[in-house]
Amino acid sequence: MTQEKLKLTIAHLYPKLLNIYGDFGNVLTLKRRCEYRNIDVEIVNVNIGDEIDIANNDIYFIGGGQDKQQIEVSRELQKQKDKLTQAAKDGRVFLAICGGYQLLGKYYLPHDKDKLDGIGILDAYTVAGDKRFIGNVTANTDFLEPNTLVGFENHAGLTYLEDGTLPLATVVIGNGNNSKDKTEGARKNNVFGTYLHGSVLPKNPHFADYLIKTALEVRYKRPIELEKIDDAFEWNAHNALVGKKY
Ligand code: GLN
Repeated sequence: MTQEKLKLTIAHLYPKLLNIYGDFGNVLTLKRRCEYRNIDVEIVNVNIGDEIDIANNDIYFIGGGQDKQQIEVSRELQKQKDKLTQAAKDGRVFLAICGGYQLLGKYYLPHDKDKLDGIGILDAYTVAGDKRFIGNVTANTDFLEPNTLVGFENHAGLTYLEDGTLPLATVVIGNGNNSKDKTEGARKNNVFGTYLHGSVLPKNPHFADYLIKTALEVRYKRPIELEKIDDAFEWNAHNALVGKKY
């Protein structure tokens, strides 16, 4: 029996505004790791004023950015709130980095600016702190094998999780959500937020594959096993960073 040709569609939200630290590398990683497995990938860039067609998108990606860019994206996201909330309820995968992550929560309150509304698909809120957290992060998850996640953080926002949303990981090195409660990122159903730039997926191949597998299983409504690929280089990068502060 010929194997069904699998396909994924990735909606990249506001790439012209939220793409600090090359967060676009996450989209490229998802695309490449699918193509290595002969899975077709379509990338749909969603810019200001574009309508989002939630019927066809399997993964939503939104990167990080400065407060200024977040203001414009916050306004636009309010127009898309119902659609994106439905997509999250349907189990679609979201990966949001830093500034984008903050806007999937209830709000982000920057320094000396008006509160930016989020879309509330994560039970979380963010307020700007007095200190900017910049540096390497190692954190432990309870759903990946190995359990480690590595990346680079640069944010002043302090994010606090509320009931209904779990942390993505527990901080070992670095600050994570707020440097107080040892949480890093957030997870609710298949919506994932993280402060990890880097970009995060190239050197966390297990997280990238987890997102791909989850999105395929939601789309095709059946268990999907991903073919093993030669990613020794990516794992060398991951292992070189685990536990490293500098
Ligand atoms: N402007 C936000 C903050 O400083 C997000 C920064 C980012 O996306 N790197 O917390």
